[in-house]
Amino acid sequence: PASSLGLLHISTSADASMVREILPPSVRNLIGGEFVESKSKDRIDVINPATQEVVSRVPLTTNEEFKAAVSAAKEAFPQWKNTPITTRQRVMLKLQELIRRDMDKLALNITTEQGKTLKDAQGDVFRGLEVVEHACGMATLQMGEYVSNVSNGIDTYSIREPLGVCAGICPFNFPAMIPLWMFPVAVACGNTFVLKPSEKDPGASMMLAELAKEAGLPNGVLNIVHGTNDIVNNICDDDDIKAISFVGSNTAGMHIYSRAAAKGKRVQSNMGAKNHAIVMPDACPDATLNALIAAGFGAAGQRCMALSTAVFVGGSKSWEDELTKRAKALKVNAGTEPGTDLGPVISKQAKDRICKLIQSGIANGARIILDGRGIVVPGYEDGNFVGPTILADITNDMECYKEEIFGPVFLLMKADSLDEAIHIVNSNKYGNGASIFTTSGAAARKFQIEIEAGQVGINVPIPVPLPFFSFTGSKASFAGDLNFYGKAGVQFYTQLKTVTQQWKDEPGQGISLAMPTSH
Ligand code: NAD
Repeated sequence: PASSLGLLHISTSADASMVREILPPSVRNLIGGEFVESKSKDRIDVINPATQEVVSRVPLTTNEEFKAAVSAAKEAFPQWKNTPITTRQRVMLKLQELIRRDMDKLALNITTEQGKTLKDAQGDVFRGLEVVEHACGMATLQMGEYVSNVSNGIDTYSIREPLGVCAGICPFNFPAMIPLWMFPVAVACGNTFVLKPSEKDPGASMMLAELAKEAGLPNGVLNIVHGTNDIVNNICDDDDIKAISFVGSNTAGMHIYSRAAAKGKRVQSNMGAKNHAIVMPDACPDATLNALIAAGFGAAGQRCMALSTAVFVGGSKSWEDELTKRAKALKVNAGTEPGTDLGPVISKQAKDRICKLIQSGIANGARIILDGRGIVVPGYEDGNFVGPTILADITNDMECYKEEIFGPVFLLMKADSLDEAIHIVNSNKYGNGASIFTTSGAAARKFQIEIEAGQVGINVPIPVPLPFFSFTGSKASFAGDLNFYGKAGVQFYTQLKTVTQQWKDEPGQGISLAMPTSH
């Protein structure tokens, strides 16, 4: 059955075989509170990466439809801005309840469109849900400041006001979490929003929008338009859009950052990564190995916080053997199958790209100690599977090291000292996250101080901060200056207004043309 959103709800394998017989539904846009079919003739197939079945088709939204979405957001803004903050918070409170109710449905949609395991898909929803929970306290987060009597009879206070229409552009790898990094914070602050989900897996955004509507978000406060480059360029150029949140690759992110900034917009742009773990000889072996395996191969390496490179200080042989043993034991299968550790990668093109980077590593002298390229998954022979792969003897001039692989490929390097290991990590252009595994407080402290990465883990593999902090990627992993969610997220979606007021009973002091001072 196709829902009003233009999404398939597949609940049993009998349903799944039935859907092959019918034309996949077209995903709708959400404009002014209505889920509407696009008039565009151009559609992109949303493909289940485990089976190659077409799940739905995404329209390349027309200019007129895009304009209508922005107009709806612009029209909804004055009333939403003036809606009491307690009411806006209550919509978020209801939304978090509804997301919990529909957690399994959302996760199944994510696994169907994106490929990750059901358990991992639930984590995707849950990490987004936490941002909604945080947005329930927006009154406190958005609070201004007040200083009484800055001068005789004069008080100054600041107010954080919403910007107007904001927009979000999403990647494929977290279909629920990343839209939820964006619109709940923006709308709880009093903005209205235009969301452009990834064209590869738009389903979770549509379901979240339906839940937001059910939670009482007024028409026009959240709008959704689908498409690719053209619609993104429209978002960058539109004068009515005041701010853009982007998460995705560096190519798209830097293009959007510069194009939108040229139009005077504020942009927060979270981009690619190459996250390193430094493993000290004194690290606790079992916990470290498990952490490396989980963060290296979880979500088939398609996380911006995946640990894709380990730098072993003082010898790596025993680590290599154990890592390989544990990686070999991982189960590669469709994300819907029980017991699966890794699902497929997003597309055939992504698989080809990953395999080419592995091959280039070997050609450049890397030693392959586990090769997942030839894997065939029984029952899912057409799936885009790549098994866990480990390349050792990596040097920093290799293409597989310089490029973000975004697949289940773990690179191993060696260093003679902690200083050398830190130098390797700091020489990499990306700065999303870095971890150290050690039982030495002194080594951990030195690492924390000297490492040039936005998110630092100490015996923690994927330090994705909870929403009361912010997601603080740095260097080439981020452009802009106000990060996603947390205090910075609220600052990003609000403009400070500083008010100075004077109320005095005394008569005026006469005219003075000198610069006012408090003396
Ligand atoms: P992507 O850049 O291909 O796509 C992201 C969005 O940008 C999509 O909505 C897409 O339609 C649009 N887009 C793509 N190319 C464009 C172009 N040339 N012009 C205008 N718009 C364009 O990214 P992806 O493959 O969906 O996601 C994977 C990337 O996202 C990886 O690099 C990963 O590291 C990064 N990522 C970063 C974070 C983070 O927080 N730093 C989080 C998740 C993913």
